[in-house]
Amino acid sequence: MKKTMPKEGKFELMELPYAPEALEPVISAQTLGFHHGKHLLTYVNNLNAALPGSGLENLPLEEVVMKAQGGMLNNAGQILNHNLYFSQFGAPRANNAPAGLLADAIDVAFGSFEAFKEAFVKAGVTLFGSGWAWLSADEQGKLVITQEPNAANPVQHGLRPLLTMDVWEHAYYLDYQNRRPDHLSALWQIIDWDVVAARYEQ
Ligand code: MN
Repeated sequence: MKKTMPKEGKFELMELPYAPEALEPVISAQTLGFHHGKHLLTYVNNLNAALPGSGLENLPLEEVVMKAQGGMLNNAGQILNHNLYFSQFGAPRANNAPAGLLADAIDVAFGSFEAFKEAFVKAGVTLFGSGWAWLSADEQGKLVITQEPNAANPVQHGLRPLLTMDVWEHAYYLDYQNRRPDHLSALWQIIDWDVVAARYEQ
């Protein structure tokens, strides 16, 4: 997994790799503005404020997540989760689907792409409260779906995270209100499968 290094002792807010309105109508520019520009920024600022004197200064974010505890872990985990989340999207596409080795691995693990999508959305819908649904690869490259509560990330169980859906209400409430299943089902249109495949094949 690519390492995210602090610069002069501070982590930076990731830049979105697309325009704020690029994901509409699946995710509105307003939701992105709050989610990236307010929620994620707060996690970045909180972690930066907690780093001095913690003994974790100058470590990559991925190692902070493995070593931090309490509030530091929550903020570091949320930064890692959101960096993976926001960087996996692109403009909506019809018939959006993975190809190549990743598509083959999805078929092996879940039977078909359709069965995978159904299982993944179910993981997000049935996660009680706030958290994240994840597709990850284990050490043998086998794909698994997990539910992680709050700020947790699959790296904490030795998995390599590939794809995620944020089921915190801040991710969808402005656009979908209480309709989490509709939001999660719509996200398939904007997954940039080249990004996910690169995470799998690295
Ligand atoms: Mn979020």
